[in-house]
Amino acid sequence: RIAAVDGKVHAFLHVNTDEALAVAAEVDAIRAAGGAAAAELHELAGVPIAVKDLIVTVGQPTTAGSKILEGWHSPYDATVVERLRAAKMPILGKTNLDEFAMGSSTEHSAYGPTHNPWDLDRIPGGSGGGSAAAVAAFEAPLALGTDTGGSIRQPGAVTGTVGVKPTYGGVSRYGAIAMASSLDQIGPVSRTVLDSALLHQVIGGHDPRDSTSLPDPLEDLVAAARTGNVEGMKIGIIKELHGEGYQRGVENRFNESLELLKAAGAEIVEVSCPNFKYALGAYYLIMPSEASSNLAKFDGVRFGLRVLPKDAPLTIERVMGATRAAGFGDEVKRRIILGTYALSAGYYDAYYGSAQKVRTLIQRDFEAAFAQADVLISPTAPTTAFKLGEKLNDPLAMYLNDVATIPANMAGVPGLSLPGGLADEDGLPVGIQLLAPARQDARLYRVGAVLE
Ligand code: GLN
Repeated sequence: RIAAVDGKVHAFLHVNTDEALAVAAEVDAIRAAGGAAAAELHELAGVPIAVKDLIVTVGQPTTAGSKILEGWHSPYDATVVERLRAAKMPILGKTNLDEFAMGSSTEHSAYGPTHNPWDLDRIPGGSGGGSAAAVAAFEAPLALGTDTGGSIRQPGAVTGTVGVKPTYGGVSRYGAIAMASSLDQIGPVSRTVLDSALLHQVIGGHDPRDSTSLPDPLEDLVAAARTGNVEGMKIGIIKELHGEGYQRGVENRFNESLELLKAAGAEIVEVSCPNFKYALGAYYLIMPSEASSNLAKFDGVRFGLRVLPKDAPLTIERVMGATRAAGFGDEVKRRIILGTYALSAGYYDAYYGSAQKVRTLIQRDFEAAFAQADVLISPTAPTTAFKLGEKLNDPLAMYLNDVATIPANMAGVPGLSLPGGLADEDGLPVGIQLLAPARQDARLYRVGAVLE
Protein backbone atom coordinates (compact mmCIF):
# COMPACT_ATOMS: atom_id res chain seq x y z
CA ARG A 1 0.00 0.00 0.00
CA ILE A 2 2.85 2.37 0.82
CA ALA A 3 4.48 1.55 -2.52
CA ALA A 4 1.16 2.18 -4.29
CA VAL A 5 0.13 5.51 -2.78
CA ASP A 6 2.96 7.18 -0.93
CA GLY A 7 4.41 8.68 -4.10
CA LYS A 8 1.35 10.94 -4.03
CA VAL A 9 0.68 11.28 -0.31
CA HIS A 10 4.29 11.53 0.96
CA ALA A 11 3.42 10.46 4.48
CA PHE A 12 6.74 8.66 5.00
CA LEU A 13 10.29 9.99 5.20
CA HIS A 14 11.72 6.51 5.69
CA VAL A 15 10.22 3.07 5.08
CA ASN A 16 11.57 0.16 7.06
CA THR A 17 10.30 -2.77 4.99
CA ASP A 18 12.86 -5.50 5.83
CA GLU A 19 12.78 -5.11 9.58
CA ALA A 20 8.98 -4.72 9.67
CA LEU A 21 8.52 -7.89 7.59
CA ALA A 22 10.98 -9.78 9.80
CA VAL A 23 9.01 -8.89 12.95
CA ALA A 24 5.75 -9.82 11.23
CA ALA A 25 7.23 -13.19 10.19
CA GLU A 26 8.44 -13.80 13.73
CA VAL A 27 4.94 -13.16 15.10
CA ASP A 28 3.43 -15.48 12.46
CA ALA A 29 5.87 -18.22 13.44
CA ILE A 30 5.05 -17.87 17.14
CA ARG A 31 1.32 -17.98 16.40
CA ALA A 32 1.73 -21.02 14.14
CA ALA A 33 3.72 -22.88 16.81
CA GLY A 34 0.97 -22.24 19.37
CA GLY A 35 1.44 -23.00 23.06
CA ALA A 36 2.51 -20.64 25.83
CA ALA A 37 4.53 -18.27 23.62
CA ALA A 38 1.56 -17.76 21.30
CA ALA A 39 -0.80 -17.22 24.22
CA GLU A 40 1.52 -14.57 25.65
CA LEU A 41 1.58 -12.50 22.46
CA HIS A 42 0.16 -9.02 22.93
CA GLU A 43 -3.17 -8.24 21.29
CA LEU A 44 -1.39 -5.87 18.91
CA ALA A 45 1.49 -8.23 18.10
CA GLY A 46 2.09 -8.19 14.36
CA VAL A 47 0.03 -4.99 13.81
CA PRO A 48 2.31 -2.56 11.98
CA ILE A 49 2.77 1.02 13.14
CA ALA A 50 4.26 4.20 11.68
CA VAL A 51 6.27 6.53 13.93
CA LYS A 52 6.49 10.32 13.68
CA ASP A 53 10.05 11.25 12.77
CA LEU A 54 10.46 13.29 15.95
CA ILE A 55 10.70 10.06 17.97
CA VAL A 56 14.07 8.33 17.99
CA THR A 57 14.54 4.79 16.70
CA VAL A 58 17.57 2.52 16.52
CA GLY A 59 18.18 1.20 13.00
CA GLN A 60 16.24 3.96 11.24
CA PRO A 61 17.18 7.60 10.75
CA THR A 62 15.49 10.37 12.75
CA THR A 63 15.38 13.79 11.07
CA ALA A 64 12.73 15.78 12.99
CA GLY A 65 11.81 17.01 9.48
CA SER A 66 14.97 19.12 9.48
CA LYS A 67 18.08 19.31 7.30
CA ILE A 68 20.11 19.77 10.45
CA LEU A 69 19.50 16.09 11.36
CA GLU A 70 19.59 14.65 7.83
CA GLY A 71 21.06 11.13 8.01
CA TRP A 72 21.35 11.17 11.79
CA HIS A 73 20.80 7.89 13.65
CA SER A 74 19.90 7.71 17.32
CA PRO A 75 22.02 5.38 19.46
CA TYR A 76 18.97 4.51 21.55
CA ASP A 77 15.23 3.86 21.23
CA ALA A 78 12.56 6.14 22.71
CA THR A 79 10.71 4.44 25.58
CA VAL A 80 7.54 4.26 23.47
CA VAL A 81 9.49 2.53 20.69
CA GLU A 82 10.94 0.03 23.18
CA ARG A 83 7.39 -0.72 24.26
CA LEU A 84 6.22 -1.21 20.66
CA ARG A 85 9.10 -3.62 20.09
CA ALA A 86 8.27 -5.50 23.31
CA ALA A 87 4.69 -5.90 22.02
CA LYS A 88 6.19 -7.17 18.71
CA MET A 89 4.62 -4.45 16.62
CA PRO A 90 6.46 -4.08 13.27
CA ILE A 91 7.69 -0.49 12.87
CA LEU A 92 6.84 0.45 9.28
CA GLY A 93 8.87 3.61 9.09
CA LYS A 94 9.11 7.27 10.04
CA THR A 95 6.50 9.84 9.10
CA ASN A 96 6.77 13.39 7.84
CA LEU A 97 6.25 16.45 10.04
CA ASP A 98 6.75 20.19 10.15
CA GLU A 99 10.39 20.84 11.02
CA PHE A 100 10.84 20.19 14.76
CA ALA A 101 7.04 19.90 14.97
CA MET A 102 6.53 23.62 14.36
CA GLY A 103 3.47 24.08 12.20
CA SER A 104 -0.11 23.12 11.47
CA SER A 105 0.17 21.90 7.88
CA THR A 106 3.35 19.76 7.46
CA GLU A 107 4.43 22.32 4.83
CA HIS A 108 7.35 23.36 7.05
CA SER A 109 9.05 19.97 6.57
CA ALA A 110 12.49 20.33 4.99
CA TYR A 111 11.61 17.25 2.91
CA GLY A 112 8.49 18.63 1.20
CA PRO A 113 4.85 18.58 2.31
CA THR A 114 2.53 15.64 2.96
CA HIS A 115 -0.74 15.67 1.01
CA ASN A 116 -4.17 15.04 2.51
CA PRO A 117 -5.44 11.69 1.13
CA TRP A 118 -8.99 13.15 0.94
CA ASP A 119 -7.82 15.83 -1.50
CA LEU A 120 -4.18 15.88 -2.55
CA ASP A 121 -4.23 19.68 -2.98
CA ARG A 122 -4.98 20.14 0.71
CA ILE A 123 -2.93 20.01 3.89
CA PRO A 124 -3.04 16.94 6.16
CA GLY A 125 -2.72 19.16 9.25
CA GLY A 126 0.39 19.48 11.32
CA SER A 127 2.80 19.04 12.67
CA GLY A 128 2.02 15.32 12.53
CA GLY A 129 0.52 15.34 9.03
CA GLY A 130 2.56 12.30 8.02
CA SER A 131 1.22 10.04 10.76
CA ALA A 132 -2.39 11.14 10.18
CA ALA A 133 -2.13 10.82 6.38
CA ALA A 134 -0.50 7.37 6.66
CA VAL A 135 -3.45 6.13 8.72
CA ALA A 136 -6.08 7.94 6.59
CA ALA A 137 -4.60 6.50 3.37
CA PHE A 138 -4.53 2.93 4.80
CA GLU A 139 -0.73 2.90 4.66
CA ALA A 140 -0.63 2.05 8.37
CA PRO A 141 -3.37 0.95 10.76
CA LEU A 142 -1.72 2.80 13.65
CA ALA A 143 0.80 5.60 14.13
CA LEU A 144 2.48 7.61 16.84
CA GLY A 145 2.38 11.38 16.98
CA THR A 146 3.48 14.14 19.33
CA ASP A 147 1.22 16.96 20.49
CA THR A 148 2.58 20.24 21.87
CA GLY A 149 -0.28 22.47 20.74
CA GLY A 150 -2.47 20.12 18.74
CA SER A 151 -0.13 18.23 16.43
CA ILE A 152 -1.90 14.90 16.97
CA ARG A 153 -5.49 16.16 17.22
CA GLN A 154 -5.65 18.75 14.41
CA PRO A 155 -4.14 16.38 11.78
CA GLY A 156 -6.63 13.77 13.04
CA ALA A 157 -9.48 16.23 12.52
CA VAL A 158 -8.61 17.17 8.94
CA THR A 159 -7.86 13.59 7.81
CA GLY A 160 -10.85 11.85 9.44
CA THR A 161 -8.72 9.84 11.87
CA VAL A 162 -8.61 9.49 15.66
CA GLY A 163 -5.82 11.24 17.57
CA VAL A 164 -5.17 11.37 21.29
CA LYS A 165 -3.03 13.68 23.41
CA PRO A 166 -2.70 11.86 26.74
CA THR A 167 -2.47 13.59 30.12
CA TYR A 168 0.89 15.38 30.44
CA GLY A 169 3.20 12.81 32.02
CA GLY A 170 0.98 9.88 31.05
CA VAL A 171 3.23 8.69 28.22
CA SER A 172 7.02 8.89 28.48
CA ARG A 173 8.70 11.67 26.49
CA TYR A 174 12.08 9.94 26.71
CA GLY A 175 13.33 9.84 23.13
CA ALA A 176 10.91 12.43 21.73
CA ILE A 177 13.06 15.28 20.43
CA ALA A 178 11.95 18.12 22.67
CA MET A 179 10.07 21.05 21.21
CA ALA A 180 8.52 22.67 24.30
CA SER A 181 9.13 20.32 27.22
CA SER A 182 6.31 21.55 29.45
CA LEU A 183 3.74 21.00 26.68
CA ASP A 184 4.98 17.97 24.64
CA GLN A 185 3.18 14.62 24.78
CA ILE A 186 3.43 11.48 22.63
CA GLY A 187 0.11 9.85 21.71
CA PRO A 188 -1.75 7.47 19.40
CA VAL A 189 -3.17 8.00 15.89
CA SER A 190 -5.63 5.42 14.58
CA ARG A 191 -8.82 4.78 12.63
CA THR A 192 -11.00 3.94 15.63
CA VAL A 193 -11.29 4.97 19.27
CA LEU A 194 -10.68 1.39 20.43
CA ASP A 195 -7.47 1.17 18.35
CA SER A 196 -6.15 4.32 20.04
CA ALA A 197 -7.00 2.88 23.46
CA LEU A 198 -5.12 -0.35 22.64
CA LEU A 199 -2.06 1.59 21.49
CA HIS A 200 -2.23 4.04 24.41
CA GLN A 201 -2.21 1.07 26.77
CA VAL A 202 1.01 -0.22 25.15
CA ILE A 203 2.94 3.07 25.25
CA GLY A 204 1.56 4.58 28.47
CA GLY A 205 2.55 4.25 32.11
CA HIS A 206 5.43 5.28 34.30
CA ASP A 207 8.98 5.64 32.97
CA PRO A 208 11.81 6.46 35.39
CA ARG A 209 13.80 7.99 32.48
CA ASP A 210 11.30 10.85 32.10
CA SER A 211 11.36 13.10 35.16
CA THR A 212 7.84 14.37 34.39
CA SER A 213 6.37 10.87 34.05
CA LEU A 214 3.38 10.27 36.35
CA PRO A 215 3.93 7.56 38.95
CA ASP A 216 0.36 6.19 38.95
CA PRO A 217 -0.57 3.05 37.05
CA LEU A 218 -2.46 3.56 33.79
CA GLU A 219 -6.24 3.15 33.98
CA ASP A 220 -7.89 0.42 31.88
CA LEU A 221 -8.34 2.49 28.74
CA VAL A 222 -9.28 -0.46 26.58
CA ALA A 223 -12.13 -1.40 28.90
CA ALA A 224 -13.35 2.21 28.78
CA ALA A 225 -13.32 2.17 24.96
CA ARG A 226 -15.20 -1.14 24.95
CA THR A 227 -17.79 0.14 27.46
CA GLY A 228 -18.72 3.28 25.53
CA ASN A 229 -21.42 4.62 27.82
CA VAL A 230 -22.43 8.22 28.59
CA GLU A 231 -25.60 7.50 30.57
CA GLY A 232 -25.91 10.19 33.25
CA MET A 233 -22.65 11.91 32.28
CA LYS A 234 -22.42 15.69 32.02
CA ILE A 235 -20.80 16.91 28.81
CA GLY A 236 -19.81 20.59 28.73
CA ILE A 237 -19.86 22.72 25.58
CA ILE A 238 -17.08 25.28 25.85
CA LYS A 239 -18.81 28.55 24.98
CA GLU A 240 -15.60 30.16 23.74
CA LEU A 241 -14.66 27.28 21.40
CA HIS A 242 -17.37 27.32 18.74
CA GLY A 243 -19.62 29.75 16.93
CA GLU A 244 -18.03 32.80 15.40
CA GLY A 245 -14.94 31.97 13.34
CA TYR A 246 -15.91 28.30 12.94
CA GLN A 247 -16.89 27.03 9.49
CA ARG A 248 -20.62 26.33 9.08
CA GLY A 249 -20.12 22.65 8.21
CA VAL A 250 -17.89 22.21 11.26
CA GLU A 251 -20.61 23.71 13.48
CA ASN A 252 -23.28 21.48 11.92
CA ARG A 253 -21.32 18.27 12.61
CA PHE A 254 -20.52 19.52 16.11
CA ASN A 255 -24.22 20.10 16.85
CA GLU A 256 -25.02 16.62 15.54
CA SER A 257 -22.51 15.13 17.97
CA LEU A 258 -24.29 16.87 20.82
CA GLU A 259 -27.59 15.34 19.68
CA LEU A 260 -25.97 11.89 19.56
CA LEU A 261 -24.67 12.27 23.11
CA LYS A 262 -28.06 13.48 24.33
CA ALA A 263 -29.78 10.52 22.69
CA ALA A 264 -27.29 8.22 24.44
CA GLY A 265 -28.28 9.61 27.84
CA ALA A 266 -25.77 12.40 28.46
CA GLU A 267 -26.74 15.76 29.85
CA ILE A 268 -25.35 18.67 27.81
CA VAL A 269 -24.37 21.77 29.79
CA GLU A 270 -22.63 24.97 28.75
CA VAL A 271 -19.42 26.04 30.45
CA SER A 272 -17.42 29.23 30.06
CA CYS A 273 -13.62 29.42 29.91
CA PRO A 274 -13.08 33.18 29.64
CA ASN A 275 -9.28 33.01 29.62
CA PHE A 276 -9.09 30.66 26.62
CA LYS A 277 -9.01 33.74 24.38
CA TYR A 278 -5.49 34.40 25.69
CA ALA A 279 -4.30 30.79 25.24
CA LEU A 280 -3.01 31.19 21.69
CA GLY A 281 -1.02 34.34 22.51
CA ALA A 282 0.48 32.81 25.64
CA TYR A 283 1.29 29.55 23.85
CA TYR A 284 3.17 31.35 21.08
CA LEU A 285 5.43 32.87 23.76
CA ILE A 286 5.95 29.81 25.96
CA MET A 287 6.42 27.35 23.10
CA PRO A 288 9.09 29.40 21.23
CA SER A 289 10.82 30.20 24.53
CA GLU A 290 11.20 26.55 25.44
CA ALA A 291 12.01 25.59 21.84
CA SER A 292 14.75 28.21 21.57
CA SER A 293 16.38 26.65 24.60
CA ASN A 294 15.83 23.02 23.51
CA LEU A 295 17.21 23.68 20.03
CA ALA A 296 20.45 25.20 21.36
CA LYS A 297 21.95 21.70 21.30
CA PHE A 298 21.99 21.69 17.49
CA ASP A 299 25.34 23.43 17.40
CA GLY A 300 27.16 21.68 14.56
CA VAL A 301 29.26 19.74 17.06
CA ARG A 302 27.04 17.27 18.87
CA PHE A 303 24.48 16.21 16.25
CA GLY A 304 24.02 15.93 12.51
CA LEU A 305 24.99 18.69 10.11
CA ARG A 306 28.24 20.68 10.39
CA VAL A 307 28.85 23.55 7.98
CA LEU A 308 32.25 25.24 7.94
CA PRO A 309 32.34 28.93 6.99
CA LYS A 310 34.19 29.53 3.71
CA ASP A 311 36.72 31.94 5.16
CA ALA A 312 38.87 31.98 8.31
CA PRO A 313 38.71 32.06 11.27
CA LEU A 314 36.99 28.76 12.03
CA THR A 315 35.82 29.67 15.51
CA ILE A 316 33.13 27.66 17.28
CA GLU A 317 30.70 30.59 17.04
CA ARG A 318 31.18 30.88 13.29
CA VAL A 319 30.79 27.12 12.72
CA MET A 320 27.68 27.17 14.86
CA GLY A 321 26.29 30.17 12.97
CA ALA A 322 26.97 28.68 9.53
CA THR A 323 25.48 25.31 10.57
CA ARG A 324 22.31 26.76 12.06
CA ALA A 325 21.85 29.20 9.15
CA ALA A 326 22.01 26.33 6.66
CA GLY A 327 20.34 23.63 8.75
CA PHE A 328 17.22 25.34 10.11
CA GLY A 329 14.25 26.44 8.00
CA ASP A 330 12.47 29.80 8.22
CA GLU A 331 9.75 28.79 10.70
CA VAL A 332 12.30 27.32 13.13
CA LYS A 333 14.42 30.47 12.89
CA ARG A 334 11.34 32.64 13.41
CA ARG A 335 10.52 30.78 16.62
CA ILE A 336 14.08 30.75 17.94
CA ILE A 337 14.23 34.53 17.50
CA LEU A 338 10.80 34.95 19.12
CA GLY A 339 11.80 32.70 22.01
CA THR A 340 15.19 34.21 22.72
CA TYR A 341 13.59 37.66 22.62
CA ALA A 342 10.84 36.65 25.06
CA LEU A 343 13.44 35.20 27.43
CA SER A 344 15.94 38.03 27.21
CA ALA A 345 16.86 40.25 30.17
CA GLY A 346 14.39 43.09 30.56
CA TYR A 347 11.65 41.32 28.60
CA TYR A 348 11.40 38.06 30.54
CA ASP A 349 8.76 39.26 33.02
CA ALA A 350 6.72 41.14 30.44
CA TYR A 351 6.51 38.24 27.97
CA TYR A 352 7.45 34.85 29.37
CA GLY A 353 6.33 35.76 32.90
CA SER A 354 2.94 37.08 31.74
CA ALA A 355 2.41 34.05 29.54
CA GLN A 356 3.02 31.75 32.51
CA LYS A 357 0.42 33.68 34.51
CA VAL A 358 -2.09 33.26 31.68
CA ARG A 359 -1.31 29.58 31.78
CA THR A 360 -2.41 29.45 35.42
CA LEU A 361 -5.65 31.24 34.51
CA ILE A 362 -6.33 28.64 31.81
CA GLN A 363 -5.75 25.86 34.33
CA ARG A 364 -8.28 27.53 36.65
CA ASP A 365 -10.80 27.80 33.80
CA PHE A 366 -10.48 24.05 33.30
CA GLU A 367 -10.90 23.39 37.03
CA ALA A 368 -14.09 25.45 37.11
CA ALA A 369 -15.39 23.77 33.93
CA PHE A 370 -14.68 20.27 35.23
CA ALA A 371 -16.59 21.09 38.42
CA GLN A 372 -19.64 21.39 36.15
CA ALA A 373 -18.99 18.68 33.57
CA ASP A 374 -17.28 15.27 33.37
CA VAL A 375 -15.99 15.83 29.84
CA LEU A 376 -15.78 18.96 27.66
CA ILE A 377 -16.49 19.05 23.93
CA SER A 378 -15.62 21.38 21.04
CA PRO A 379 -14.71 21.22 17.37
CA THR A 380 -11.03 20.23 17.07
CA ALA A 381 -10.22 22.89 14.47
CA PRO A 382 -12.18 25.89 13.20
CA THR A 383 -12.15 24.74 9.57
CA THR A 384 -11.68 21.66 7.43
CA ALA A 385 -8.35 21.11 5.62
CA PHE A 386 -7.21 24.24 3.81
CA LYS A 387 -5.32 24.31 0.51
CA LEU A 388 -1.57 23.69 0.40
CA GLY A 389 0.15 27.06 0.20
CA GLU A 390 -2.91 28.99 1.44
CA LYS A 391 -1.44 30.00 4.81
CA LEU A 392 2.22 29.25 4.25
CA ASN A 393 3.28 32.88 4.09
CA ASP A 394 0.98 34.09 6.84
CA PRO A 395 2.24 32.72 10.18
CA LEU A 396 -0.61 34.28 12.18
CA ALA A 397 -3.30 32.66 10.01
CA MET A 398 -1.46 29.34 10.46
CA TYR A 399 -1.25 29.80 14.25
CA LEU A 400 -4.99 30.55 14.49
CA ASN A 401 -5.70 26.95 13.49
CA ASP A 402 -4.60 25.83 16.94
CA VAL A 403 -7.11 27.91 18.88
CA ALA A 404 -9.14 24.94 20.12
CA THR A 405 -6.30 22.48 20.73
CA ILE A 406 -3.80 24.65 22.63
CA PRO A 407 -5.68 25.05 25.96
CA ALA A 408 -5.31 21.31 26.73
CA ASN A 409 -1.50 21.50 26.43
CA MET A 410 -1.38 24.65 28.53
CA ALA A 411 -3.17 22.80 31.35
CA GLY A 412 -1.75 19.29 30.81
CA VAL A 413 -5.21 17.76 30.40
CA PRO A 414 -5.90 14.93 27.93
CA GLY A 415 -7.72 15.45 24.63
CA LEU A 416 -9.07 13.18 21.90
CA SER A 417 -10.14 14.11 18.38
CA LEU A 418 -12.43 11.82 16.44
CA PRO A 419 -14.15 12.03 13.06
CA GLY A 420 -17.51 13.80 13.25
CA GLY A 421 -18.55 13.36 9.62
CA LEU A 422 -18.00 15.48 6.52
CA ALA A 423 -18.65 19.21 6.17
CA ASP A 424 -21.64 20.06 3.96
CA GLU A 425 -19.89 22.73 1.91
CA ASP A 426 -16.70 20.86 0.94
CA GLY A 427 -17.21 17.20 1.83
CA LEU A 428 -14.05 17.17 3.96
CA PRO A 429 -13.66 15.55 7.40
CA VAL A 430 -14.60 17.44 10.57
CA GLY A 431 -12.99 16.66 13.93
CA ILE A 432 -14.76 16.61 17.29
CA GLN A 433 -12.58 17.17 20.35
CA LEU A 434 -13.21 15.72 23.81
CA LEU A 435 -11.30 16.96 26.87
CA ALA A 436 -11.11 15.37 30.32
CA PRO A 437 -9.45 16.27 33.63
CA ALA A 438 -5.80 15.23 34.07
CA ARG A 439 -5.37 11.47 34.68
CA GLN A 440 -8.93 10.80 33.48
CA ASP A 441 -7.98 9.73 29.94
CA ALA A 442 -10.36 6.76 30.28
CA ARG A 443 -13.32 9.17 30.10
CA LEU A 444 -12.25 10.24 26.62
CA TYR A 445 -12.38 6.66 25.38
CA ARG A 446 -15.69 5.98 27.10
CA VAL A 447 -17.36 9.01 25.49
CA GLY A 448 -15.45 8.69 22.22
CA ALA A 449 -16.71 5.15 21.69
CA VAL A 450 -20.30 6.44 21.84
CA LEU A 451 -19.69 9.17 19.26
CA GLU A 452 -17.90 6.97 16.77
N1 GLN B 1 0.65 23.92 15.38
C1 GLN B 1 1.28 24.09 16.65
C2 GLN B 1 2.58 24.80 16.50
O1 GLN B 1 2.90 25.10 15.40
C3 GLN B 1 1.38 22.78 17.34
C4 GLN B 1 2.66 22.08 17.21
C5 GLN B 1 2.71 20.78 17.93
O2 GLN B 1 1.76 20.38 18.60
N2 GLN B 1 3.85 20.13 17.84
O3 GLN B 1 3.27 25.08 17.43
